[in-house]
Amino acid sequence: MTAETKTTLQLSDITAVEFECKNCQRVVSLPLPLKSANQVPTFCDCNVPRQWMPVGSDAHRTLLALMDYIQRYAKATDEPYVLRFVTTGLSARASGGKD
Ligand SMILES: [Zn+2]
Repeated sequence: MTAETKTTLQLSDITAVEFECKNCQRVVSLPLPLKSANQVPTFCDCNVPRQWMPVGSDAHRTLLALMDYIQRYAKATDEPYVLRFVTTGLSARASGGKD
């Protein structure tokens, strides 16, 4: 018999989002709710010439919409359903959590 571990995550469980630079492993953590869209990092201070997501780009707008949805739904306790994300594992930082 094989046991499967399943983890569920509700939007109200999300307390912050993290961005990690693939070049220098710098991590920027933003607690939710966001105070301003300007808090979302669009680049890293290291010498990567490519921005993470230019302001106004599809990626930037979509990320802001996602974060807005997470914040709104986390407060919407009167919905007639519970939305959960299901995962079979948890992601680890590229740095292996050694920061
Ligand atoms: Zn970097």
